[in-house]
Amino acid sequence: MRLAPCVLLLAACALPALAGARPASSPAAGDAPAPVALVIHGGAGVITREQLSEADEAAVRADLDRALDAGHGVLVAGGTALEAVVAAVRVLEDSPWFNAGKGAVFTAEGGHELDAAVMEGHTGRAGAVAGLRTVRNPVLLARAVMEHTPHVMLAGEGAERFADTRPELERVPNDWFDTPRRREQLEAARERAQRQAVTTPAEARFGTVGAVALDRHGHIAAATSTGGMTYKRWGRVGDAPVIGAGTYASTGCGISTTGWGEFYLRSVAAHAICARVELRGDPIGAAAEDVINGLIPAMGGDGGAIGLDARGTIVMPFNTAGMYRGWVATDGRRGTAVFR
Ligand code: ASP
Repeated sequence: MRLAPCVLLLAACALPALAGARPASSPAAGDAPAPVALVIHGGAGVITREQLSEADEAAVRADLDRALDAGHGVLVAGGTALEAVVAAVRVLEDSPWFNAGKGAVFTAEGGHELDAAVMEGHTGRAGAVAGLRTVRNPVLLARAVMEHTPHVMLAGEGAERFADTRPELERVPNDWFDTPRRREQLEAARERAQRQAVTTPAEARFGTVGAVALDRHGHIAAATSTGGMTYKRWGRVGDAPVIGAGTYASTGCGISTTGWGEFYLRSVAAHAICARVELRGDPIGAAAEDVINGLIPAMGGDGGAIGLDARGTIVMPFNTAGMYRGWVATDGRRGTAVFR
């Protein structure tokens, strides 16, 4: 479903940051601590008032708030952007409300295959996993790939074998990720498939999670985690774990996306936004609008993204009815939102 481009530049799409860029180094003694910022998402899609009761919305927003607390707590304590995005995404993976970790959508075979990625901007290091079946928090394994292997992306059986070498990571049976709501969505998708009705991606997925942070050192990191799309088959992998498509961070820009992954893959969406910022000098708000409300819908896709630049300017554009999102700006202003 496609709606008018996001016009909430001031209210939601780009939160003004503190004026002035700052050097990517620790503040000198006596200086005020350098500002930090965090933005998170819990998926973009067809979220309407009729589908989301006020009680459910309150529960979703409470979990977004817990994720903000976790990530922002890391940042104000002087932790790194990488630690902050992992902390925030981990909370969302453990929440049954989102399509990541517990609460992930079902594959056509009735199981769960989970994808995740992390990227650290100032080092250019990245880690990603795809098709995980037993790792409770895929974002933690993505970080371990980055920190403990010479590789960037591990998939399927091999990724599970690598997880075997990390005893600190909790393993669960695949049905631990089940939730009644996702099973209903699988049954509906199966029924549509029997009728040979087309399952549109908007029905098939929703609730991917992600986080992007700026730490006191001026460093940016991004993370994304997802169960992908309901009724996915043949080991389908979406954009979330693909560096540059669903997750990207550089020295000047970080992005995590959510939406119809095939289009984000084809447009290399996260990198497309950051390239506009870093190579063309676009403000991040304009760059993100261009890709999320221009390029992606023009190709036939839908979804949203979150991100920030080196000044802590936060962007949260989407072209769907809603996107679960939360933010803490450099001046401490904080919020969560679902609809436009
Ligand atoms: N982008 C995810 C995927 O295609 C799904 C989503 O964000 O809702 O796997």
